[in-house]
Amino acid sequence: MTHPSDSVQEKLKGLRKVFSGQLPEKIRQLEEIMGSLDRDVWDAIKAGQAAHLLHTLAGTAGTFGFAAVRAAARNLEARLRASIKDGGVPSGSMRAEFSELSGALKTACGVAEVSAVAPQVNAQAPFPVQPENDIVFVVDRDPIFIDSLALQLRCYGYQVAAFGSFAELTDALKISTPLLIIIDLSFLQARHEGANSVAELQKRRELPIPTVFLSDRIDFKSRMEAVRAGGNAFFVKPLDVGRLVDSLDILTTRKPPVPFRILIVDDEPLLADYHATVLRQAGMKAAVVIDPEQTLESLIDFRPELILMDVYMPGCSGMELAKLIRQDETYVDIPIVYLSSETDVSLQLAAMGRGGDDFLTKPIQPAHLIASVTLRADRYRTLRSFMLYDGLTGLLNHTRTKEQLDVEVSRVSRQKAELSFALIDIDHFKTVNDRYGHPVGDQVLKSLSRLLKQRLRATDIVGRFGGEEFAVILTDTDGQTAHKILNQLREDFGRILHASRQGEFSVTFSCGIACPEPGRTGAVLIGEADKALYAAKRAGRNCVVCGTADGLP
Ligand code: GH3
Ligand code: MG
Ligand code: MG
Repeated sequence: MTHPSDSVQEKLKGLRKVFSGQLPEKIRQLEEIMGSLDRDVWDAIKAGQAAHLLHTLAGTAGTFGFAAVRAAARNLEARLRASIKDGGVPSGSMRAEFSELSGALKTACGVAEVSAVAPQVNAQAPFPVQPENDIVFVVDRDPIFIDSLALQLRCYGYQVAAFGSFAELTDALKISTPLLIIIDLSFLQARHEGANSVAELQKRRELPIPTVFLSDRIDFKSRMEAVRAGGNAFFVKPLDVGRLVDSLDILTTRKPPVPFRILIVDDEPLLADYHATVLRQAGMKAAVVIDPEQTLESLIDFRPELILMDVYMPGCSGMELAKLIRQDETYVDIPIVYLSSETDVSLQLAAMGRGGDDFLTKPIQPAHLIASVTLRADRYRTLRSFMLYDGLTGLLNHTRTKEQLDVEVSRVSRQKAELSFALIDIDHFKTVNDRYGHPVGDQVLKSLSRLLKQRLRATDIVGRFGGEEFAVILTDTDGQTAHKILNQLREDFGRILHASRQGEFSVTFSCGIACPEPGRTGAVLIGEADKALYAAKRAGRNCVVCGTADGLP
């Protein structure tokens, strides 16, 4: 089997080859400009062009491991820039120096391919592999408890296989591996098996299976026993299924993290491609912009979480572009990391002062690039999550949901696609708060949001629209299909048992659905869904109503 990084190494090798193939043409261009500088009167613009060519050449050569070419190009660039700054016509000795430096560059390029040291990409993809099945093994003596647990876990996408004894579990584990094991510890203790039999079982496996212990008691001894047996979590009966599911989601890492989106702006296609390859190898999504003028479009389409910005580009500098980007309120806080062959610290600091977050110097070690980008993109994502998401449920907040609805509605009219918008409102929620207390009410809200997030597709958008009101945008879904989906969710939600001091209870919701008509805005759609929801409440609650174009069901 080929290792995933093999193909990346191949790709990098290919890019290096393209670069060395381009060297003769680059040298020819340089010679042409330098030659004209030598003959004609000193032309500052041409000298500037040559300096830019040399700058890019140094950066690219360094990245692809051509150290001698990099050094020669840097020397010549520095000399040239000094002359431009002086504004004077270069003296005879300076001309001699130029031609000596050009000669050194040519020689370096000639031996380039032989001496190149290939940069290595060692970074491993940081994301865990998603488990293949959804089976949870449960060992418990009480068949009614098992049935009820199985029914509820199924609502969250977990399948349950139940065992009435430890021996049955041991046999089953010889044939298949579940995502996780849930064991009633009191049951084991009553049979004098204890948690250590679980520890024994795990020892025989190459990788331990995450294990959750349930117990009738919360005494220290039982908890310690569970810890010693390698238990990952401990729950006391009566079980709060919502908290158990939270814990299952974490332990079984069913939701792999969404890859970071990184936009690379660099006028040198080879370098841009190289950095994109390195970042993709680390599990990120990378998009490339070669022409700085295309940057704003990419910001809208790709929605990057970090911009990796070249400093010297034709048309505008990286710093100017950063300033332009930051003038748009949406991007005031997007991290911008400059990537340049500039080694002068004062220039670096000046660049940072103009809207940059970090300054990385080319050539950069792939591992260093990955670490620096990950750190900043991660922090940005966390900060943004406070602004975009509701604190209790982690769903999109009201403003953000409305924005997303507008985006989707305009996409639908552009692409002639289907879309359904649903408003969900929990029935008699005030009574839940009054009877069981506000914290229990919060648990119910979390449990509904969890159900919606887990059961809908990644392309659907779920938001908390108000206190106990939720909004769902079902992309590419017609009203009839949306009705079916939401009705199933309604039935499943009604089956979930919520825990409270007064015992378990269940809750229902009502739902109104609307679909966009040509020329209607998101706001109109919300109004229609709200009318349909009101109709569902009037019809006795615990039902789903589809609104028609004129708003009446
Ligand atoms: P209906 O079936 O007509 O929707 O009745 P209802 O009781 O659900 O509706 P109503 O609008 O009268 O009450 C909503 C309740 O939701 C009142 C409010 O205290 C509660 N609520 C709003 N936000 C939260 C929250 O974040 N946590 C908790 N626990 N309760 C909340
Ligand atoms: Mg309500
Ligand atoms: Mg309400």
